[in-house]
Amino acid sequence: SRSARSGTAERVEGHVARNYAPLDVTIARGEGAWVTDVEGKRYLDLLAAYSAVNFGHRHPALVAALEEQLGRVALTSRAFRNDRLEPFAAALARLCGKDLVLPMNTGAEAVETGIKVARAWGYRVKGVRPDAARIVVAHGNFHGRTTTIVGFSDDESARDGFGPFTPGFDAVPYGDAEAIAAAITDDTVAVLIEPIQGESGVIIPPEGFLRRVREICDERNVLFIADEIQSGLGRVGETFACDREGVVPDLYLLGKALGGGILPVSAVVGNEDVLGVIRPGEHGSTFGGNPLAAAVGLRAVEMLESGEFQERARALGAHLREGLEAFLGHGVTEVRVAGLWAGVDIDPSRGTGREIAEKLLDRGVLVKDTHGQTIRIAPPIVVRATELDWALEQLRVVLAG
Ligand code: PLP
Repeated sequence: SRSARSGTAERVEGHVARNYAPLDVTIARGEGAWVTDVEGKRYLDLLAAYSAVNFGHRHPALVAALEEQLGRVALTSRAFRNDRLEPFAAALARLCGKDLVLPMNTGAEAVETGIKVARAWGYRVKGVRPDAARIVVAHGNFHGRTTTIVGFSDDESARDGFGPFTPGFDAVPYGDAEAIAAAITDDTVAVLIEPIQGESGVIIPPEGFLRRVREICDERNVLFIADEIQSGLGRVGETFACDREGVVPDLYLLGKALGGGILPVSAVVGNEDVLGVIRPGEHGSTFGGNPLAAAVGLRAVEMLESGEFQERARALGAHLREGLEAFLGHGVTEVRVAGLWAGVDIDPSRGTGREIAEKLLDRGVLVKDTHGQTIRIAPPIVVRATELDWALEQLRVVLAG
């Protein structure tokens, strides 16, 4: 029974701090779109580590890049140059159409870096009064778990017990460009948004929103910072979610899939006039830009250069959309799809998102609930259409009860 199994889960995780409530499965192996648990049962992975595994588990090209670099050098620190960082930065800058790359490790670090860059730009270039810089953010945002970042979240479970928080953030409704315009003051240095909100349940803003944000930021001399950590690097059927509206932000925040689903690799990417404000000694990271990360990150960027993954996400996404929309009125109340990424709102009469995720787990499909009634579907882009069909059939059975 489930309670007996969660007893086991408690024992196997007895020393792990309880900051997550994982589904009751212990993964031991992964390949492509599939993982295998400690008992040998296989699961189709429809979460892909929150889009970090866009290329699939252990993609041979990424494993080869990792192994080749492991035979040379893994870590140097930035006290010295390493011969992998510039090739990685050059390729990533080219992919983004920008000049400079500031490498970090996790997504939250890229966000923190973006905040520091925007503030420094505000004081040194825009001429904002000392310590007065403000950043406009969106309600329902998710940008990570550091104290500054949770301070401008409106998810109480992310904030409660962790204050006091960093000042200088103004939140407005997501998808409302005029609310952003109204929130901007002379002290505003940046607008920081997810072009599609991931953790909130794959919330897609109204068409034209990103274009309007770009215009407002230009008119008001404010930086547009796009957190593409979850939405970027192929997931939505384009390289970036901003590409859906042909919009180029001042700073891209990237992470997750940048490390090829193997290592934590994140980056802030921008032009000289913005990212160039950071001077030696002002910011850094022991592991940021390390040769191993740069080698894997370079290969990940190269894999995106042909557009093959983007095209595949677009085609599979259209297929997924069709399959999911057939459930509307049959246990599903709303479906939001962007490329190979979907938020599926479960009719409460069929159970919570968590309950649906647990039933799918029993049937060999891994998904994760978010915000109560929503399940998010973000398969590795290497998944096959027939595998998606099989997963949709499992969802149909679960929804039918
Ligand atoms: N920004 C966005 C949009 C995210 O979805 C996430 C993680 O889910 C983060 C930032 C934080 O990334 P990390 O967990 O690597 O710190």
